[in-house]
Amino acid sequence: MTDSTILIAVPEQARGEGVGAGQLRRIRDGIEAGGCAVRWVSDAGDADAVLRTEAGVAAALVAWDLPAGGRADAESGGAAVLRHIGRRFHRLPVFLVMADEGVRDLPLWVSESVVGYVWPLEDTPSFIAGRVTAAARAYQEAVLPPFFRALRRFDDAHAYSWHTPAHAGGVAFLKSPVGRAFHDYFGERLLRSDLSISVEALGSLFEHTGPIGEAERNAARVFGADLTYFVLQGDSTCNRVVGHFSVARDEIALVDRNCHKSVLHGLVVSGARPVYLVPTRNGYGLAGPLPPAEIDAASVTARISSNPLAREASSEGAEYAVFTNSTYDGLCYDALATARAFAASTPRLHFDEAWFAYARFHPLYAGRYGMSVGPAGFPGPERPTVFATQSTHKLLAALSQSAMVHVRPAPRAPVEHHRFNEALMMHGTTSPLYPMIASLDVAAAMMDGPQGECLVDEAVTEAVRFRQEMVRVRRRIEAAGDRPPWFFGVWQPDAVTDPANGDRLPFEEAPADLLRTEPSCWHLEPGAAWHGFPGLTRGYCMLDPVKVTLTCPGVDATGDMADWGIPARVLTAYLATRDIVVEKTDSYTTLVLFSMGITKGKWGTLLDALMDFKALYDADAPLDRVLPGLTAGHPGRYAGRGLRELCQEMHGQLRSVRLVELLDRAFQELPAPVVPPQHCYQRLLRGGTERVPLGQASGRVAAAMVTVTPPGIPVLMPGEAVGDPDGPLLRYMSALESFDRRFPGFHSETHGVERDPDSGDYRIECLRLA
Ligand SMILES: *Cc1c(COP(=O)(O)O)cnc(C)c1O
Repeated sequence: MTDSTILIAVPEQARGEGVGAGQLRRIRDGIEAGGCAVRWVSDAGDADAVLRTEAGVAAALVAWDLPAGGRADAESGGAAVLRHIGRRFHRLPVFLVMADEGVRDLPLWVSESVVGYVWPLEDTPSFIAGRVTAAARAYQEAVLPPFFRALRRFDDAHAYSWHTPAHAGGVAFLKSPVGRAFHDYFGERLLRSDLSISVEALGSLFEHTGPIGEAERNAARVFGADLTYFVLQGDSTCNRVVGHFSVARDEIALVDRNCHKSVLHGLVVSGARPVYLVPTRNGYGLAGPLPPAEIDAASVTARISSNPLAREASSEGAEYAVFTNSTYDGLCYDALATARAFAASTPRLHFDEAWFAYARFHPLYAGRYGMSVGPAGFPGPERPTVFATQSTHKLLAALSQSAMVHVRPAPRAPVEHHRFNEALMMHGTTSPLYPMIASLDVAAAMMDGPQGECLVDEAVTEAVRFRQEMVRVRRRIEAAGDRPPWFFGVWQPDAVTDPANGDRLPFEEAPADLLRTEPSCWHLEPGAAWHGFPGLTRGYCMLDPVKVTLTCPGVDATGDMADWGIPARVLTAYLATRDIVVEKTDSYTTLVLFSMGITKGKWGTLLDALMDFKALYDADAPLDRVLPGLTAGHPGRYAGRGLRELCQEMHGQLRSVRLVELLDRAFQELPAPVVPPQHCYQRLLRGGTERVPLGQASGRVAAAMVTVTPPGIPVLMPGEAVGDPDGPLLRYMSALESFDRRFPGFHSETHGVERDPDSGDYRIECLRLA
């Protein structure tokens, strides 16, 4: 085992000539001879650096009298290192190196957190080195979660394979040049671990047995679920499984309009009759949460009774409700409050947490995720069964497509494993990729214990630093007074309250520790101007600090448009030239994510690019220089023009057609439902649908979902009426179409819309007229 590191943290004298020093060096040599690497440091500051950067540390020798190094804490260096280890590593074997003090002089917590003591002069160096290496090996084995451990053991056995996949541990690839290139690129390890489901020693994904079953149960414990299922085809499949399981044909499903396509697919396969719930929106065009008034029993009943499809449903009320938590923009709900509200209307509640798998591991998100709803917080027979579906790969460390379904069944709507498993198998594969299963197992283990919080906290801390720095830049430029003002902002409160003393602090002056740990700093307070969402109640919705929305000038949170502006599409195009790819772009906002993959100061490059953009804008730099790809692609349209001019022209267009306002109407005034989604799909199979240009679409019924990105929320669902030419939907779509025509190179991403490459006409799939 060469990949383990032993930390030795002892005072500087240990490098000197004394007898004890010589002994410690011999211990080090013995450890290295045993195949481990040693990191030798002389104060707590350096020990911290090693612990922060080397996750391969498998044991530590720490001197109690270690100097504190750059650390300001009053504690001894040894105590500080032990505490750091406790925060970051679960059960790391630590040996305390003793000088003159006796064990009885140590605080109790220290005795509890170390596995042994080393008096360098009392035992032989080789004996001590042997103890440390053995402890390191045991630790490295113990940190492995169930499936990954079994997979490694299996691989170590070097057995021949007589089963699929036919590449047989990669051997088949070696028989051709192109196969060889593939083999060399991905490496033998990946191919050797690509095994067939017939390897019984590893268990079964469908039967949830053996190490796979153990891994799922371990994940359930880590994520706070009663049942957890691994799914290898993304959260998309999780959503289809839960939808397919929860609602029978012709029953009513309550569906957040701000939902992912896969939720709709669940409705198509199940044959449900959807009744949509409409999230609130603000002036930037950002989708907010479903407000409390939208999910209370009376309003749900009203939505159901005004829906002609629901009136003919086979269920009285809704059998199932699904909503997105957190939203793309990082808005997360008070889970218990939503569960209580929904409980009056449905026995099954599904939180789509594609972007939120880390929520359980940081106190900032306490009570904001689906699995936090259980009998302790919600006793009594009314509690709904809760599902949470997560794209583990999106914001934790797992391979793409690796996802999980978590369930907390309630007596009201039991989830018997064998029934749920039918739905899982229907959407699953009988040939799972074992490295993906291992990645799910590892993703859960990484979040288990203290290091989970530590990892999430790093992302939160960096996001807080960036957010504060953005405000400070504005202040500094204002104070300098010699250049045009800073125009980018971050969507966040301007001031926060410290609950300890009630002090109100400007956001950028609030202690980072307060912002890191105090959820109320991030609440969308009812009526606060910065968020612009109406109808919220205190604590109902919180902004997740790691989802950072940058704002561009041109509009404010209430929708008031300014005389000048910088549409975010221009900024995004510029950032792409700097190799900064953002998550999402709306009319005047751009979303960036601070995930666990963040490194300290990585955001400095983003800040730098924003400052450069401003300098280019202030100087009205030629587009040839700012966006060379754009002018090369559309020379007739853009060559010879300046950055400011482009921004202003685009802003003028957005303003004159009132795109943000039209979008708002298109979302708020839902199209009339005509037939259930499954019906449209049946027609699509048998030639009962066709592509129709927008100009001819009025009065027709949509046959496929139309989602426009930005903002990525469906504006039209299959089975809904397209409406009149001057109705909300067609006005919005036509405005977008003309925008795309006028600004080639900046067109919107539209799913469910076909753009004619020559004319730029939009076409959408509609039911054929009878
Ligand atoms: C990405 C996403 C999904 C689908 O997740 P995959 O893992 O990509 O299949 C589902 N719901 C929401 C809200 C998403 O953003």
